[in-house]
Amino acid sequence: MTFSLHGIGASKGIAVGKVHIVTRGLLEVPEYTLKKSEIEAEVKRFRKAIAGARADLGAIKDRIPPDTATDIAAFIDTHLLMLDDSAITKAPIKLIREEKRNAEWALKVQRDALVSVFEAMQDSYLRTRKDDIDHVVTAVQMRLMHTDTPISHVDGSFAGKIVFADDLTPADTVLMQHQGVVALVTEFGGPNSHTAILARSLRIPAVVGLHNVGPYLRENDTLIIDGRQGVVLVDPDEQMVRHYEKLQRQIERIHTARRKLRYAPTITSDGETIVLQANVELPADLDAAVQVGAQGVGLYRTEYLFMNRAAPPDEDEQYQAYTEIGRAGEGSPVTIRTLDLGADKQVDGTRPGAPMTSNPALGLRAVRLCLKEPALFRPQLRAILRASAHSPVRMMIPMLSTTGELAQVLDLVKSCRQELDNEGQPYDEAMPIGAMIEVPAAAICADIFARELDFLSIGTNDLIQYTIAIDRVDDEVNYLYDPLHPAVLRLIQMTILAGEKTGIPVAMCGEMAGDARYTRLLLGMGLKEFSVHPNSLLEVKQVITESRVAESRKFTQRVMRVIKSTARSALLEEMNR
Ligand code: PEP
Ligand code: MG
Repeated sequence: MTFSLHGIGASKGIAVGKVHIVTRGLLEVPEYTLKKSEIEAEVKRFRKAIAGARADLGAIKDRIPPDTATDIAAFIDTHLLMLDDSAITKAPIKLIREEKRNAEWALKVQRDALVSVFEAMQDSYLRTRKDDIDHVVTAVQMRLMHTDTPISHVDGSFAGKIVFADDLTPADTVLMQHQGVVALVTEFGGPNSHTAILARSLRIPAVVGLHNVGPYLRENDTLIIDGRQGVVLVDPDEQMVRHYEKLQRQIERIHTARRKLRYAPTITSDGETIVLQANVELPADLDAAVQVGAQGVGLYRTEYLFMNRAAPPDEDEQYQAYTEIGRAGEGSPVTIRTLDLGADKQVDGTRPGAPMTSNPALGLRAVRLCLKEPALFRPQLRAILRASAHSPVRMMIPMLSTTGELAQVLDLVKSCRQELDNEGQPYDEAMPIGAMIEVPAAAICADIFARELDFLSIGTNDLIQYTIAIDRVDDEVNYLYDPLHPAVLRLIQMTILAGEKTGIPVAMCGEMAGDARYTRLLLGMGLKEFSVHPNSLLEVKQVITESRVAESRKFTQRVMRVIKSTARSALLEEMNR
């Protein structure tokens, strides 16, 4: 009997195939007390397990074919780095010695402590990094317990299979892809989990967050995965299979046609030139951006540079990184966003002992934190300025909410420039400085901000969160997360108009810009600059080249007047036909 299961569509695409169920679950960890004479041997056993896990990961990394996107190797590098971190390597040894207990127990205690810190984080990206801790800890536990059965080594081949797992490590995902897996389905994980990020990057259709569906699936059941809708059809009839296979072929044809768009100019069919840039997180994303013909980088998130390390990078390290990324833009502008960390998402060593607040998203994050911590902010400002000497670099400030903050930032930039002058260090005096508009207060006052800045960029991920007052990572209120909410649309419109009146460019770099369903709506609002994930770029480009701005404008005005959300969605569909 056919039935459907509903999760989160994490990577678009359709797959039809037989399911292969891989379960690993949490390892049962033994716990026992040691005699004094056994303690040092236990420490030695623990160290050996760490070395073994490191060797396992190294071997997996070596097996990644050279044509794999480099950010995948970076994920594995992150795990290798974690295996060097004292929180994993030293803290359990202290526990073994102090508590006189076995290594598995000590590692589990330390894992629970680390995970609870990550779980308290409000930022979805950082919160999902707790998965990394679990992946690394499991690798060590398996060595300790001689249960060396990572998913990637089980069964050998995933050719043509849809894998259902509780969760997958980056290494599992890479190997499965090279063994020919056609889709991934997981019980856990959200749209920002590693499985989701990797699946998108590798273009494997994926549905995640299908809680408690294990009992409904049997090995070799036929499944249809619809990664666009987050739907899994179990035991479909022949007609359904034929329908989805046809859809699959259509999608493939569309992708092939789109690849040709790489070199085409981004011009609407009524002659409006649009700027289409890429969002970049890891330097490796730049390769993907170049491959799809992005016209520079509209958002480079610098947070990753500060992660997985004991102390923040110093000015010189940041200067090297920004110079490299700036040069990789090959003459197109690269927009470097200043740090977007917050009280909830501390990176080791930035603010030890900072108190947890009840509303971290409304607390000391992004530019607020940077202004409070000049020792953190100044090296970044100086590094960005110095990088601007070598290639077109723009600086972008996140989370601005008052003009006072902007004045403070501009003062700091001025004083950094003076310092660099005194030191004889070159920088681009005309380096554009812009801000993200992602707080309703900033959108409402966008005209005031626009007077002081060279460009604006709308961050819809946060703008939607703050406008509708819904936590963007809280599943319980996810149903309210609506880019088409009239309040959101009005704020976007106000920001675009403020830019037009002041004569400065306005871009959008939130996820809404990369969702091709909204491209025409945004064109109709007058948006001329989009910054999107490289994987979405050609799809958005295609819609742009097939759109007429004048026509989109009429539709947009209608969408903005409609009150009922279902009617708005229907109009949007009509607009996209
Ligand atoms: C946004 O808020 O839309 C944005 C692009 O920033 P981030 O997702 O990094 O908060
Ligand atoms: Mg944001």
